[in-house]
Amino acid sequence: MTSTYTTGSLREVQKLDERIREIQKGLATFDERLLEVEEPALALESELGQVTERLSQMKADVRRLERAADDKRARAEKLDQRMNKVSNLREEAAVHVELDLLKRAIDADEHEALQLLDQIRRTEQTVEELGASARTARAEVEPRQRTLRSDRRAYSDRMELLLGRRTEVLAHVGPPERRVYEAFHGSGRKVVVTSLLDDGACGHCFGVIPLQLQNEIRRREGLIRCENCGVILTTEPEPAIQDLEGAPDLPPLDAVPKAASASGSEVAAEGATGESGSA
Ligand SMILES: [Zn+2]
Repeated sequence: MTSTYTTGSLREVQKLDERIREIQKGLATFDERLLEVEEPALALESELGQVTERLSQMKADVRRLERAADDKRARAEKLDQRMNKVSNLREEAAVHVELDLLKRAIDADEHEALQLLDQIRRTEQTVEELGASARTARAEVEPRQRTLRSDRRAYSDRMELLLGRRTEVLAHVGPPERRVYEAFHGSGRKVVVTSLLDDGACGHCFGVIPLQLQNEIRRREGLIRCENCGVILTTEPEPAIQDLEGAPDLPPLDAVPKAASASGSEVAAEGATGESGSA
């Protein structure tokens, strides 16, 4: 009933699933990296927005100061005219004081306006420089994002290839084995099939397998599972994933968060030996 091919196929599905998990982790990094690529441009654009806002505030302040100075000058002119019509010294002194205060206020307004104009000139220069930097940064975003999108496509294509191969291989697996495999896989277990070691131990939990079961496994008599950890045991060699070996290398994931890349290589290491799940 259980063919020699079956556990070997399950091991291939297991290898494919390891690879699929790696590709999934890779795919999950792309959204974040697409944003990351845009960040420098966004930061410069936001700063530019703030400085531009400040600039227009300063320009409004200058206009307000100039209007205030104009008003005061008009009042000073009226006072000048009154000065010609004063009838006594006391009145003349009072107008004099008022005129004096007004002229000093006008001077202060003008001085403040000049300072602001100077600040405006410098800010305008900053706006110009920031604008140029923002434009440069923005121009770099699109090509980098295009590369990332094309990398992401390469990962999705590989995923499709792996999923297709998985379906193909599973079709050769007997229903009981497939059920066990899918149940384990569905519960998040990474090792479903493993080798019976030469010393008669389970390749996953290293528990010793009873002699009679060992013989059944060696004779390839059906689906034998470790009584301790539940994995399917086999003496068949681990298959290579032949038709995927010719596929081109996937682009590297430069900005993968450290944690994801660390657990990714752990999975790969586990898959490489296939017998040392708890190494
Ligand atoms: Zn075991």
